[in-house]
Amino acid sequence: MANPRLHVLALGGTIATRPDASGAMQMGLGADDLLAAVPAVGGLAEISAETVSRVGSHSLSFDQIHALASKIRGLKADGVIVTQGTDTLEETSFLLDLLLDLNIPVIVTAAMRNPSLTSPDGPGNLLAAARVACDPWVRAHAHALGVMAVMLDEVYAASDVSKIHPTRLNAFAATQTGPLAALVEDRIVPMSLPVRDAIAGARAKLGDLSKASARPVAIFWMWLDEGGGLIEALLADPGHLGYRGAVIGAMGGGHTPERATETVYRLARTIPTVIAPRAGGGPLLRQTYGGPSSEIALRKAGVIWGGRLHPVKARVLLECCLRAGMSREAIAEVFDPFG
Ligand code: GLU
Repeated sequence: MANPRLHVLALGGTIATRPDASGAMQMGLGADDLLAAVPAVGGLAEISAETVSRVGSHSLSFDQIHALASKIRGLKADGVIVTQGTDTLEETSFLLDLLLDLNIPVIVTAAMRNPSLTSPDGPGNLLAAARVACDPWVRAHAHALGVMAVMLDEVYAASDVSKIHPTRLNAFAATQTGPLAALVEDRIVPMSLPVRDAIAGARAKLGDLSKASARPVAIFWMWLDEGGGLIEALLADPGHLGYRGAVIGAMGGGHTPERATETVYRLARTIPTVIAPRAGGGPLLRQTYGGPSSEIALRKAGVIWGGRLHPVKARVLLECCLRAGMSREAIAEVFDPFG
């Protein structure tokens, strides 16, 4: 049987850096350079490659990822690998997951150690991503798996993967669900299939976003003794900053400080506002605690309940909902199945 056709799309990131004259690492390598460092990939698949950009993922935009999704939809390939920086991989992969509904593996990978260091992880991660994309189990379950992230010989669902460390090699994890599969010797060992009903439901409601324009979403983190001053600054002139929606990184099962209660209620009346767990993911409470800034009161006040999504992923989903022109009620229906 012919080898699968794999298309590699390089965006930039540490995996694509090279030293400048001062020794500082700069974005510079393209897709062909990345592939040249891993000749073994050529034995697995028929490879085509494209350098989309040479930027750090900290500078990518929602619009760039929408354009990338359109490009991926138009490819004639049996699998797609996106290489990028690690900083926003948990967001970009989730956005691709919301935008793409494909029967081929789509994998995002990156590197923590740059090519000038001893034992950089980029080549190994790219080879691992190619092996995962070519694996028969992965290909047979590609639709059920959704977009995946492959880092350090583990495969994660885009909806669950988080960057949990700024510098170390094992910087990625799916803290709620664990990996979907692991690479060991020359095998991909499947471990689980993700539950994707909420994502499929969201995708169906979002529809085609290819012509819609960006809708900035703010995140407000709640913490000890937070009075809501930044939210007040937004409310003083809601149009000025341009935010069309907000995510609140709430404490515990969905709580905000009592002294900020009225401010949070007013924010929720002004722009669609989603509560997401500051703990980084996991289902929120809905009906346990009383009091003015408890989950019961916040839900009654019209704050949208974000469920188990990490606040940065809730922000990605809210941006999509706003792009789609959804009402507050429709947005709440998208988030509700996330728990
Ligand atoms: N901040 C850069 C980026 O996200 C480099 C970090 C990385 O790739 O690990 O692209």
